[in-house]
Amino acid sequence: MSQPSTHAQRSDVFLLDTERTTWHDETLWFVRQKRDKAVYATPEFQELRQLASDIKDHTLSRLAEYLEQFEAAALANGVRVHWAADAAEHNAIVLDIIRQAGACLVVKSKSMLTEECHLNPHLLAHGVEVIDSDLGERIIQLRGEAPSHVVLPAIHLKKEDVGETFWQHLGTEKGLTDPQQLTEAARLHLREKFLAAEVAISGVNFAVAETGSVVVCTNEGNADLAIGLARVHIACMGMEKLLPRLSDMAVFTRLLTRSATGQPITTYTSHFTRPAPGKEMHVVIVDNGRSQQLGRPDFRASLKCIRCGACMNTCPVYRRSGGHSYDFTIPGPIGAILSPNIDMRQHASLPFASTLCGSCTDVCPVKIDIHTQLYKWRQVLGAEGMLPASKKYSMQLLSRVLARPGLFKLGGEIARLGLRFVPHALSHAPGYNPWAIARELPTPPPQSFRAWYAQQPDQA
Ligand code: SF4
Repeated sequence: MSQPSTHAQRSDVFLLDTERTTWHDETLWFVRQKRDKAVYATPEFQELRQLASDIKDHTLSRLAEYLEQFEAAALANGVRVHWAADAAEHNAIVLDIIRQAGACLVVKSKSMLTEECHLNPHLLAHGVEVIDSDLGERIIQLRGEAPSHVVLPAIHLKKEDVGETFWQHLGTEKGLTDPQQLTEAARLHLREKFLAAEVAISGVNFAVAETGSVVVCTNEGNADLAIGLARVHIACMGMEKLLPRLSDMAVFTRLLTRSATGQPITTYTSHFTRPAPGKEMHVVIVDNGRSQQLGRPDFRASLKCIRCGACMNTCPVYRRSGGHSYDFTIPGPIGAILSPNIDMRQHASLPFASTLCGSCTDVCPVKIDIHTQLYKWRQVLGAEGMLPASKKYSMQLLSRVLARPGLFKLGGEIARLGLRFVPHALSHAPGYNPWAIARELPTPPPQSFRAWYAQQPDQA
């Protein structure tokens, strides 16, 4: 059977389990509500958002300058800086550092960039064991799955699924579902890996041009433990992660976790500036399509994203279709903007996976105009001839009808009359009108709105 190729087709697979879909929807809505409480308890939140947006706009407008400043400061601190144009270069650089360190076991903290570059399979193929140390990441790694959310990578799984996974891979008791006991089992298992690994790979939440430091935010402290124990630290960062000054961090640390999970602050916010005596620290700065997005005026603001996940938690489409339906490292509304930049044809359906309700834009802590950019991608995809034929021709037909009031009136009369006699099986036929399949149409009114309006006394 061929693989589903559109977001709608992949969503159908997720929607087969209605109980799980409802649970997923409610769980993420709960996180969104926690975010709202944290925001309302911070009176200056809107000012912080504006500041964050301005800082990011400014940084992107001088990105080359700040990257050079960051590199110079990091080199002066004794950090080795590497530049990667794409995922292949990033993976080759990381593998080379690991080989030079003579390591065959690597502990990795959560990093969407390494997911984007498919680093794990690359390292495994070259004989390096790589262990994800974030609990959610480790669970999906054991299951051979991709993260379904940027902050909560295993949010699509219930505790029963985790119990089953740990029973299969970690030898826990069958049927164990107690989160505390499952966490303990993962802790014991990961501790051995932390102690044995000579190389630690981390993501980067922010990089400070002024100091040449990278900042890693985690709730589990796994990055700190791994980096503290290993001899070599490799920090992998997208080139858009920069902030000009250390003082800018004050704005972003207040926004990040409030927007992500509703916490006032991330449990661990660690600054890594220089290697400890006798150790090595490397930073790999990755482009992988970011320069191209920077050069697209309508979409460059998407590079302001700090990966808080708030747009996913609020999105009615994401909550009911699951992160895997996006088939891209970053799911949800922001992923639907970033993905066509990487491969327009492969991800052509994603900008349509939105109601354009604007809720994503409302919650975004860096004020990205997410729903406007989704709408713009639709126009670009249409102009590039990447709409499915059914959508393309029906939209052309509709625009002709809407441009001619007489034709619209006639169409309305035919529809009102026709719908009374069209059998239910035809109006809900699969393949003919997917929108109607899950809905019942209301009884058509006897007259058009225009006719009704003309009869109103004030209009006489
Ligand atoms: S687009 Fe905005 S809301 Fe969505 S993950 Fe990025 S920063 Fe958060």
